[in-house]
Amino acid sequence: MKSPSESNQPPAARRMLIAFAHPDDESFGMGGAIARYAQEGVDISLICSTNGDVGTVDPEHLNGFGSVADLRLNELRCAASTLGIHDVITFGYRDSGMMGTPENNHPDCLWQADETAVIGRIVQEIRRLRPQVIVTFDPYGGYGHPDHIFMHRTTTKAFHAAGDPAQYPEQLTNGLQVFSPSKLYYNTFPRAWLLVRVWMERLRGHDPRHLGKNKDLDLQEVLDRHLPSHAQVDVSAYHGAWDAASGCHASQLNPRPNRNPLDRLMRLVFRHQYFTRAWPEPRDHEPMEHDLFDGVE
Ligand SMILES: [Zn+2]
Repeated sequence: MKSPSESNQPPAARRMLIAFAHPDDESFGMGGAIARYAQEGVDISLICSTNGDVGTVDPEHLNGFGSVADLRLNELRCAASTLGIHDVITFGYRDSGMMGTPENNHPDCLWQADETAVIGRIVQEIRRLRPQVIVTFDPYGGYGHPDHIFMHRTTTKAFHAAGDPAQYPEQLTNGLQVFSPSKLYYNTFPRAWLLVRVWMERLRGHDPRHLGKNKDLDLQEVLDRHLPSHAQVDVSAYHGAWDAASGCHASQLNPRPNRNPLDRLMRLVFRHQYFTRAWPEPRDHEPMEHDLFDGVE
């Protein structure tokens, strides 16, 4: 990492790029951490690669909107302004369904998109925004959603490509310069939270391998594929903004957030959001980071 004096640049503001797939991933996934960093003055940009058009929506939510995509993108704008996200970049792909569903064969869906082209779009945003920290999904896409896995793969490749002048050189003729971000994180669940959830589902008589409205959420698999956390960010003071941003995605909430007593209890116990650091590669027995900008000059 270059110091400001080495690069002859004025001290840079802290900038973060978050690369997710659907309108709501930002709020449901890491809304507390986004609210915290935005309030601390970090310049936060969000890539949302799909329009959320395949999301299940009750007709009452569609009043005043021409399509599900219009509604979902409006909800995203609400959440972004609530959390303090500075710049929302949409790629406009159709979202895909869970693995094995027919939606994944649609020619416009993200799962069918040309990977090289999507990496190029992310590289271009990294070169334009010059974020020191990038956050995306883990290799299993949190819970196995194909769009999440696709964003994990493409963002990880883009992270390493953006600083290489041989990659996407056509972008460099338009005033863009190569840029190597300092740190890459994967948003993850706390392991203890997953253990409790699996245990609670069994206690309720549910099969943790077949949860959700479509019985296609395998919480045991999420637990089995869980990666170690290297950073925990205290978000206990940011639950208000987090809840408000989640509330913006009203069409995706059933039931409304925090109505479930178990969720309320979990909030009290788990005060942090957790991240797996992919770059720089973690050392053995490294102490837990408490700030994603640790070590960034
Ligand atoms: Zn998603």
